Amino acid sequence: MTPLPADENSAALVERDKACVWHPFTPMRQWLENCDDTARVIVAGDGFELIDSQGRQFIDGFGSLWCNLHGHRVPQIDQAIRDQLGKVAHTTLLGYASPPSIELAERLVGITPPGLDKVFYSDSGATAVEVALKMAYQYYYNRSQPKRRRFIALRNSYHGDTIGSVSLGGIDTFHRIFKPLLFDVDFVDSPNAYHHPAGDEAAGVVLEQMETLLAENPDEFCAVIVEPLMQGAAGMLAHPAGFLKAVRELTKKHDVLLITDEVATGFCRTGRLFACEHEGICPDLMPLGKGLTGGYLPVAATMATREIFDGFCGELSESRTFYHGHTFTGNALGCAAAAASLDLIESSGMVAQSPDKVRLIFERLGELADHPNVGDIRQVGFMVGIELVASRPGEAFDPALRTGAALCKAAQSHGVIIRPLGDVVVLMPAPAMDNETLNRLLDATITTIKEFFA
Ligand SMILES: *Cc1c(COP(=O)(O)O)cnc(C)c1O
Repeated sequence: MTPLPADENSAALVERDKACVWHPFTPMRQWLENCDDTARVIVAGDGFELIDSQGRQFIDGFGSLWCNLHGHRVPQIDQAIRDQLGKVAHTTLLGYASPPSIELAERLVGITPPGLDKVFYSDSGATAVEVALKMAYQYYYNRSQPKRRRFIALRNSYHGDTIGSVSLGGIDTFHRIFKPLLFDVDFVDSPNAYHHPAGDEAAGVVLEQMETLLAENPDEFCAVIVEPLMQGAAGMLAHPAGFLKAVRELTKKHDVLLITDEVATGFCRTGRLFACEHEGICPDLMPLGKGLTGGYLPVAATMATREIFDGFCGELSESRTFYHGHTFTGNALGCAAAAASLDLIESSGMVAQSPDKVRLIFERLGELADHPNVGDIRQVGFMVGIELVASRPGEAFDPALRTGAALCKAAQSHGVIIRPLGDVVVLMPAPAMDNETLNRLLDATITTIKEFFA
């Protein structure tokens, strides 16, 4: 594919953006002041590259915010959307069914851990989490246990930006302001050995905290929610092996539900189709989003066990219905894109090819292991966090310096777009990225870090 020519209106586009677009997670005054050189208007994608309005090409090193799986303008997905467009773009699932949503649901039931038999559609990761938490609460309510209304979550969790999902989240910078609007959640530590004072013993400490809460408050909790294996938005905090499995055992023992938020980790991002597979567990509820459509369209889903589903079935007079839904629930174009993405995951052998690519990333990042400004490198599959420090072992930079942001901006001149989380440089390459492009992304990242601190 040939890159597009520079858009003559590049500067005008920037001005029009500044006039009326309010960007998410963005300090807007600084955006308006610095926009000319930091903001790029992305006008097209071409495989694993993004093209801006000046015709410059960049490797998409952050999977267009963690959702892109196969690259951009993928012929098979484009075609599936066109085919569906020839039938109908959207119809509702309230009172009606649709072939794309039926087909996708069947396929999701087929590929998620056995036991997750029902699919509730929504349109973003946050809504998929919102659905899961309301289902968990109402499940026990329907079983005449309305006192079970407490949740356990991990500190520094991120589950989305609606009020319910923010309640379950624990990232101070994002969530502090909204505290008065949130419901109470019991937080336990994040079992990340690098950040936890107990180091390698962190997992045991956290499990004890959970066990204490559950044992001391019988019949009060409805669910434990975790981002399985890796807390993404917190700065890629990896959990020790065995932690997820132990949480599953604990929740079973105390008869509370386990929600594994696979919005970020799902669809091969960890090297397996789902993070839960690494520990051979099946949750009760599993929100999916981001990569579900290959990163094409806003479709999300909450997978549920038959047991939970059955809890919502009864006589009308019993009022067991789940009164929740969104206008675009089960959107046909999105479901068609998702089915095509699943086809591609299979036909390309994405899972089978992952270990070599994951190893390539791991080995290349070894070049940074002794760098004085790299405190920690955390990787689970294609999710990578490189923690920048003022000095080793772990003296943080003053956050006001915005070191991570400055470094990621410098990476643009090496032809890549990456986005930091504070002072953690995040790499989130599409799992389908070929080795040559992957190496260019890693070259650019490593060179940028070395030059930046030289
Ligand atoms: C991104 C993310 C969400 C929220 O998804 P949105 O589509 O942005 O609402 C929820 N949970 C996790 C783990 C995420 O990474």
